[in-house]
Amino acid sequence: MKVFKSKTELATYLKGKTNIGFVPTMGALHKGHISLIKLSLEQCQYTICSIFVNPTQFNDKNDLLRYPRTPEKDIKMLEEAGCDIVFVPENDEIYPEGDVLKEFDFGHLETVMEGKQRPGHFNGVANVVQRLFEIVKPQKAFFGQKDYQQLCIIKQMVKQLQLPIEIVAAEIIREPDGLAMSSRNALLETEERKQAAGIFETLQLIKSKSKELTPTQLLQLANDNIKKYPLIHPEYIVFANAETLQETIIFDKNISIIMFIAVKLGKVRLIDNMLLAS
Ligand code: AMP
Repeated sequence: MKVFKSKTELATYLKGKTNIGFVPTMGALHKGHISLIKLSLEQCQYTICSIFVNPTQFNDKNDLLRYPRTPEKDIKMLEEAGCDIVFVPENDEIYPEGDVLKEFDFGHLETVMEGKQRPGHFNGVANVVQRLFEIVKPQKAFFGQKDYQQLCIIKQMVKQLQLPIEIVAAEIIREPDGLAMSSRNALLETEERKQAAGIFETLQLIKSKSKELTPTQLLQLANDNIKKYPLIHPEYIVFANAETLQETIIFDKNISIIMFIAVKLGKVRLIDNMLLAS
């Protein structure tokens, strides 16, 4: 596996190569990330993973400082998975001095849920992904449905900029108790980690009742169920149209509905989602 720190060296190495699959990450890798690498290995000739904790997408400075960093372990995991290339840039490779961020307009997609809770977050995500796309020039890029709103934003960005890149969505990989794998899970205290399973339990409960109860009753049930876990503090629990992310409390059988949840456990913020009906 080749490791690059310099974007110029990486771009030179990639010149003339096609069929490139790209997996952007912020490191502290787990099986969720590796599932994206595996998808890329199946579908592309070259698989490249980037590890870059992107400062412009953190609206909370402490969250950026606390973000787990395990570079050696990450490289080992990527090597074992069979990844071809890893790109680990320093900050100024991506954001040279004096550089100005692009202001994207994603309309409604960036004003709901994570966009509402984390102002500027998606603009930072779009900036870093656009810059990484420019360096790597992949034919395909792989994103997890765990960050479903991010996936919608990236698809929209690719459309707006008319980039010749196919965005591939990958399913959510979970721990044995159902908790969606996330780099932030490592920051949970023992009891918080135990109670965090309540997020998946609630999503599953609501999915199992989604044909019998009204959306309003389902929301009530979700909030009641979460209360069984006193360390879980919900930020939002909503149902939204899977295409437009428009929040809804009316289920139409022609529309796919996803239940989205964001919670805090101590200092750790976690998100998850589940398709209810399609
Ligand atoms: P991150 O390092 O958190 O920025 O995530 C990098 C990529 O991995 C994003 O496309 C995420 O959606 C994806 N990802 C993170 N956790 C999971 C998971 N549990 N299952 C599938 N994909 C994931």
